Amino acid sequence: MRIGFIGLGNMGAPMARNLLKAGHQLVVFDVVDAAVADAVAAGASGCDSCRAVAVADIDLLMTMLPASPQVEEVYLGRDGVLASVGRGVLLIDSSTIDPFTARKVAAEAARQGNPMLDAPVSGGTAGAQAATLTFMVGGELSAFDAAKPVLARMGRNVVHCGASGNGQVAKIANNLLLGISMIGTAEAMSLGVALGMDPKVLAGVINSSSGRCWSSDTYNPYPGVVENAPSSRGYTGGFASALMLKDLGLACDAARQAGQPVVLGALAQQLYQLFTSQGRGRLDFSAIIESYRRTSSHNG
Ligand code: NAD
Repeated sequence: MRIGFIGLGNMGAPMARNLLKAGHQLVVFDVVDAAVADAVAAGASGCDSCRAVAVADIDLLMTMLPASPQVEEVYLGRDGVLASVGRGVLLIDSSTIDPFTARKVAAEAARQGNPMLDAPVSGGTAGAQAATLTFMVGGELSAFDAAKPVLARMGRNVVHCGASGNGQVAKIANNLLLGISMIGTAEAMSLGVALGMDPKVLAGVINSSSGRCWSSDTYNPYPGVVENAPSSRGYTGGFASALMLKDLGLACDAARQAGQPVVLGALAQQLYQLFTSQGRGRLDFSAIIESYRRTSSHNG
């Protein structure tokens, strides 16, 4: 297929490379020239605008952008994709954005005859490189069926979550739970160790009891408990606290618009806000356990 790809950052660049490896032709754009140059060196055709990608006789267009404002600009802007793309071209946005914006852009696209899917991912940059991402996809089933073989070259799981926007709903609901469960695990581990338990023994008990969760058994925030987790390498190379804060913010905003309480989610959002405001946003999100570190022994 001839595929347009806009947004060649930490995630988009390796995803685009996997499409090239799969034998697709790629037409790419990013506002950062060096990102376009790298993709061209890997075999893509470079463009100097979104419009140039949209008119390049493509079968499908993917975007991987930072947040909602960039998605609106790229699709709905005066020189954006919808103003120039051919009717019938399938559009897929894999950025993590709020479901309301995803639905608005998809409705505009559908109005002019372009099926559009929201397809945010989990799996991080390692998953993007290894083509093992999970895609959570919202939109018409016929568009999902057409997109699936392409998405499967970048990911291991491609899940249809329902109507437009539901990919984003699945993504923010999962990360809401992940943020809360990580803080809960950090709190329980810190309490157990403060009361005299060995962290590995405590984690072993939790992981064979009812407190077990992904944050405790695969990604434990206490250093040294899980050998290959970010906590055992100084909280580097995982999922940044700033990105967790972004996703919790999306969940809280969406909850406000839906009139749905997210009591623990709002608290988790504020704890990550505090953590990142202390200059620790680049640390893996499991570093939130440092908020529980005691500097002196308890003296009553
Ligand atoms: P990034 O900032 O590295 O990449 C975004 C790219 O979009 C950049 O290269 C930027 O120059 C480009 N861009 C911005 N505005 C543009 C415009 N108007 N036109 C063309 N290009 C433009 O971000 P990322 O880490 O690749 O993440 C992309 C999305 O995926 C985000 O929504 C993020 O929340 C989500 N995500 C990231 C991770 C991760 O671990 N990094 C994991 C899951 C989901």
